[in-house]
Amino acid sequence: MRALFLWMSRSIRLRRLITRIGFARRAALRFVAGETIDDAIAAIRTLNANGILATVDHLGENVETEADAHRAAQSYVDVLDRIGKEGVRSSASLKLTQFGLDIGDELCRENVAGVLRKAKAVGTRVRIDMESSDYTDRTLAVFRSLRREFDNVGIVIQSYLYRSKDDIAALCQEGASVRLCKGAYNEPPDKAFPKKADVDANYVALTRKLLSDEARARGYAAIATHDPKMIDAAKAYVAEHTVPREQFEFQMLYGIRRDLQQQLAKEGYTMRVYVPYGAEWYPYFMRRLAERPANVWFILRNLFRG
Ligand SMILES: Cc1cc2nc3c(=O)[nH]c(=O)nc-3n(C[C@H](O)[C@H](O)[C@H](O)COP(=O)(O)OP(=O)(O)OC[C@H]3O[C@@H](n4cnc5c(N)ncnc54)[C@H](O)[C@@H]3O)c2cc1C
Repeated sequence: MRALFLWMSRSIRLRRLITRIGFARRAALRFVAGETIDDAIAAIRTLNANGILATVDHLGENVETEADAHRAAQSYVDVLDRIGKEGVRSSASLKLTQFGLDIGDELCRENVAGVLRKAKAVGTRVRIDMESSDYTDRTLAVFRSLRREFDNVGIVIQSYLYRSKDDIAALCQEGASVRLCKGAYNEPPDKAFPKKADVDANYVALTRKLLSDEARARGYAAIATHDPKMIDAAKAYVAEHTVPREQFEFQMLYGIRRDLQQQLAKEGYTMRVYVPYGAEWYPYFMRRLAERPANVWFILRNLFRG
């Protein structure tokens, strides 16, 4: 099921077909705040009112023209502008392939630099999402190049990749802000752990590394997962090593485990929710279905109930 949905997420023909179906659009709204900036701001406002921070994502990836890459950058400048004007508490998350990475590294870097400048002016940060392993090296290179100029940029590392142990070690040395997630793409067994148990064990090991004294001396950790076992492991490490709460945060996706989001915020942890919005919801939606096939049955049940 996972492989099928991840294959579907890349199919342009299926995307054209499925995005025309009204029911699919409505189902995607379980994971996506809506199609407009107003929808995103309304979702952020509701989260903020419940003591939860946000990171906004204007959906889109793998653009093929410079014009589309510039448009994506402008859309982030626009949403950051609104975040500043409305005074809501949100950073931004973006994918480099939406900013032209498939066209050229320099074009992509310049587009992201414009967004970082705007984020700086608004007093917030930008995190670069990690895409499939085809892009890991180039994503890290663009991130490191931007870090030389900007102090408000962070990166993401995926625990399913074998290489992540070394990447985390290097990023900790560099004092980077790192979001740790398990990884959402279809990866071959020579690059990623095929067994979930190994991905989870690596997640716990990398969390501990990110929360260690050495890493926290200069960096910041964002523990991005809905998995209670991963969260409990992080909490246990934090309690045992008296890690100050302002040196890390938990992150989850919009619409997933709202109960747990609320609980962690109530317990006094910094909780941030990833808020995607925009018309390009199809691949994001398919990846969420791939993560939990039970979501498909939930959606189909509601369809047949009318
Ligand atoms: C804030 C944030 C940012 C992310 N950024 C990236 C990124 O840049 N690159 C990347 O590759 N991946 C990213 N991801 C996705 C991540 O890699 C995982 O695919 C996703 O979070 C599911 O893994 P999990 O840690 O929740 O654990 P899992 O073991 O997959 O799930 C644990 C439990 O969480 C719940 N759950 C998980 N997923 C769903 C779902 N779709 N629907 C309903 N319930 C669910 C279920 O109760 C499940 O039992 C991000 C995730 C988060 C939370």
